[in-house]
Amino acid sequence: MLSLFFTTIVFTLLSAVVFILPLSFGVKGAVFIALLLIGLSVMVWASTNIRSGVYLKTINSNPRHINEVAITFDDGPDGDQTPRILDLLEKYDAKATFFVIGRKAKENLPVLNRMVQKGHIIGNHSYGHSNWFPFKTVQTIRREILETRAIIEQVIKKPNSYFRPPFGILNPNIARALANLDFLTVGWTIRSLDTQNEEAKIVFNRIIKKMKGGDIILLHDTSKNILGILEKLLVYLSDNEIKAVTIDELMKD
Ligand SMILES: [Zn+2]
Repeated sequence: MLSLFFTTIVFTLLSAVVFILPLSFGVKGAVFIALLLIGLSVMVWASTNIRSGVYLKTINSNPRHINEVAITFDDGPDGDQTPRILDLLEKYDAKATFFVIGRKAKENLPVLNRMVQKGHIIGNHSYGHSNWFPFKTVQTIRREILETRAIIEQVIKKPNSYFRPPFGILNPNIARALANLDFLTVGWTIRSLDTQNEEAKIVFNRIIKKMKGGDIILLHDTSKNILGILEKLLVYLSDNEIKAVTIDELMKD
């Protein structure tokens, strides 16, 4: 959806450049502006497409594991919904990976403890998840990530090795902030768009339409219909003999 939006905007701007601007700036000026716009579009694409690998290498799937998928939850823990997500995962004998926000993790340590006890993986999703996170300085970004790492490690008692950037946005500052921290940055292959308040059935259908073995699925603890979406997905996986595993397990071999 987003890429279609960007393509339309870029195409419209380029058409304007090619057909209208030569009249006011001359051909050289128009070519310059066209190149500038193409450069800007590539930058936007590289920042908003976590799989591009332009700024940082990311883990997005493991097609060799055809009978497994990794379900990932961002933006929790949520005091109300995350415990119920954990109940559902247990009911269907499924494992997942939770990319937690440091500030929320600190207030919900018992939920984090339960994740560990049940064999799930906890990853780092920044401390505050502010809309401005991608625009912060290298030092601030690094401090947020380290603060969250400390909270997570207090619970998991081993190194916190997985990171997912807020909004899936990567840029040179975030890449520099992560330098030498030994994180594996995790993206996804299936974006459920579960935060749009649609009916569970619509989101579930969107997920399974493109899903194949080895995929990483992006969900959110905070989505209004997350419990309905998750239960439908877990039933589907079990009916099709596909195992929901942690990122650790999916990336083996
Ligand atoms: Zn997020």
